[in-house]
Amino acid sequence: MLSRLRSMKKLEDLIVTYKDFPKKGIDFKDVLEILQYPDFFQDLILKMSSNPFLKNAEAIISIDARGFIFGSAVALESSKPMIVARKPGKLPGNIITREYDLEYGKNSLSIQTNALKKFNSFVIVDDLLATGGTVNCVSKLLQDQRKEVLGLITVIELNKLKGRSKFDFPVHSIISI
Ligand code: AMP
Repeated sequence: MLSRLRSMKKLEDLIVTYKDFPKKGIDFKDVLEILQYPDFFQDLILKMSSNPFLKNAEAIISIDARGFIFGSAVALESSKPMIVARKPGKLPGNIITREYDLEYGKNSLSIQTNALKKFNSFVIVDDLLATGGTVNCVSKLLQDQRKEVLGLITVIELNKLKGRSKFDFPVHSIISI
């Protein structure tokens, strides 16, 4: 059954587009269907984990919330520690926080200082790169603490929004749309 599905489908076919979500004008690209196909999910995680800049990173930082799904699988596959950047009100203890602009609104992200102080270099993992505001927020949080950002690994990159032009580090995206 799975091998028949594999011959019929590509990873790209599992990305579902929801028009006008969460607001008018946004084509929301949903990666969650990938999780219903373990062999595609495994292939994806192997590709995301094969990146050379990951080898040199002391840790992964994954972004709330879909980034956690892919980040923790990449962390397991690459045997790297993982810490998280979370949305407001979610993290206990001492945190550092920064606000950022989203393709559809404003938000802020926080990192626990106790987790951050253990590592010096990071690869960021998220599900999708759009304008780059989210990843830029995380990289600024890290760089303000004199941490090194070696790259971003993401499942999808929306090319037309040119998010990667905001960064001074490389981007590894598995699907460019
Ligand atoms: P940005 O900061 O504009 O690069 O947006 C990236 C973050 O927002 C990711 O964490 C995505 O989960 C989410 N996001 C932004 N735009 C979209 C979209 N068109 N489809 C799905 N997720 C999106």
